[in-house]
Amino acid sequence: MMKRWRIWWRALADLMLPRTCLVCGRKLGLQEEHLCLYCLAEMPRTYFWDRSHNSMADKINGLIQEGLETSVPDGNTDRRMRERYAYACALFFFQDEGDYRNILYSLKYNGNTAAGEHFGKMLGHKMVSAAHFADVDTVIPVPLHWTRRWKRGYNQAECIAEAVAHELGAELHTDILYRRRRTSTQTKVDVKQKRRNVLGAFEAVKNDHEPSHILLVDDLFTTGATLYACYSAIREIYPSARISFATLGYVGRH
Ligand SMILES: [Zn+2]
Repeated sequence: MMKRWRIWWRALADLMLPRTCLVCGRKLGLQEEHLCLYCLAEMPRTYFWDRSHNSMADKINGLIQEGLETSVPDGNTDRRMRERYAYACALFFFQDEGDYRNILYSLKYNGNTAAGEHFGKMLGHKMVSAAHFADVDTVIPVPLHWTRRWKRGYNQAECIAEAVAHELGAELHTDILYRRRRTSTQTKVDVKQKRRNVLGAFEAVKNDHEPSHILLVDDLFTTGATLYACYSAIREIYPSARISFATLGYVGRH
């Protein structure tokens, strides 16, 4: 429940600049934040946090296995043995026909970092109740290239990661993973091209922290190519840490 002075303050602020629902555009009531109660109830939640095996995790594990098959020689089964099934979850389905996409657009292009924190908190709150995410000790956001971050003023993945880390009681680390070159934002390239484009774009640098369960956080999971590229860089420096994945949106079906 909000404190009384906050309600008065918000009522005054709403009079001057009404807040609207990110999905349907309706004017928000005093107790509503970012979404109206109807859109909050109708959010296409994935419930992936309840299932350690789900389609998002299957996709990223597919990429990991494929990578091992091409990079690790057949005789060397050590690394393959060490790769456990990676856990992954997203808050909602990012459907083409649904306006829930606005949550991510507003965060990425309209400077709505408060939305990133709000929905990051919601995601973290779901994850903290899942046993397979309970021991996450390190949260790392997918980094932007420094020029892009400088232009935008913030990294949208970091806004989400910070809130998730807080909910999970884990440490946020932004000094481990770096994007060493800019990758094209072109959306029309095919999956294979995109993977080639993004692989090797990241570099991980060891700090004095020794993580045991790392959670990589991004705003959206589309093909998994970006998160897989981040995973590859981190795996180089932490050969035995568990690496899991979390995003707000997930492009795909159940
Ligand atoms: Zn609404």
